Amino acid sequence: MQKISSMTVLAGLTYSEIEKFITGIGEPEFRAKQLHQWLYKKPVADFEHMTDLSKNFRQKLKDIAVIQSSKIVQKLTGKDGTIRYLIEYPDGKRVETVLMSYDNRPNLTACLSTQIGCAVGCTFCATARQKFIRNLTAREIIEQIITIQRDTGKMVTNIVFMGQGEPLLNYDETTKAIKIINTELEIGMRRITVSTCGIVPNIYKLTELNRQLILAVSLHAPNHELRRKIMPVENKYPLDELIESLKFFIKTTGRRITIEYTLIDGINDTPAHAGELNNLLTDLKYNINLIPFNAIEGCDFKRPSIQKINRFKEILEQASKKITVRLEKGSDVSAACGQLAGKIIN
Ligand code: SAH
Ligand code: SF4
Repeated sequence: MQKISSMTVLAGLTYSEIEKFITGIGEPEFRAKQLHQWLYKKPVADFEHMTDLSKNFRQKLKDIAVIQSSKIVQKLTGKDGTIRYLIEYPDGKRVETVLMSYDNRPNLTACLSTQIGCAVGCTFCATARQKFIRNLTAREIIEQIITIQRDTGKMVTNIVFMGQGEPLLNYDETTKAIKIINTELEIGMRRITVSTCGIVPNIYKLTELNRQLILAVSLHAPNHELRRKIMPVENKYPLDELIESLKFFIKTTGRRITIEYTLIDGINDTPAHAGELNNLLTDLKYNINLIPFNAIEGCDFKRPSIQKINRFKEILEQASKKITVRLEKGSDVSAACGQLAGKIIN
């Protein structure tokens, strides 16, 4: 069990670990169920609000445990309701987690970070500029959900691993977090999306581990030459190997994959690129999420015009009906795709 300065951290504990903790401090077993509920299912800000626990027990908890180790350093709400939390872990390292809601839908989607910074170095991404700082532990990943739930008093219903970092380069802790999300928070696997830049061996591993998850792949270019110019990962795991691993996912799970394609003006957004993309994906079952480029500091790339975006989409629609343009959520608070860099926004 994780402790910080002798206090037990509750976030991320499984039911049986909570039971062990409860009996270890001489409390009756039924308290484990109550505490588990408060921790994951009935989000409250603090122990005081856990109203069906006796006063004495709440005091005891306060003396020996904390709900989580991290704290909110900044909370910003965008015009569209997207909330960007900057949180800080005990070692002083900071990372974002983002809460998104969609009009007329009850879903609340948490966009989680799996690493601080990222080693992959995609040319269009703000996280890449920080380089790789460290991996997050499963507990630290879970704390991001607990932060949101305690702050809003609402339950998160969907998870996307699309914050800072490459989830498949922190495979063990990410898959451990997924297990906790599924069993303790009871969020169905079909509501959990893992987005990867294409770490091929771990796509195979993940497919074998879990057939229910949604797999999203950041493609961003329809051929090897262009992809390696904007995504260095292409040198290590080239497109043909990536496509093979996606075929394996589709065949094994019987499910579609999501292709993410960030549209950058004059780089990967011509009708010819769209046609080439259709050809590349011929044998796959897929949806495409087009992400018009979001501006980041120190990068000259531009977002294409709306006409170019629509033209690109129309061509893709000749091959598949399931093309969406990702709504630009939270860009006014630097919370949109690719804008996360662990900084306070003034
Ligand atoms: N590391 C994972 C998870 C990040 S998800 C991955 O790369 O898939 C965030 C998505 O936003 C990815 O598809 C990423 O390529 C894309 N992205 C990064 N920078 C962006 C930017 N400036 N504008 C739009 N999309 C961007
Ligand atoms: Fe890392 Fe993803 Fe950003 Fe690429 S897009 S640098 S893989 S976080």
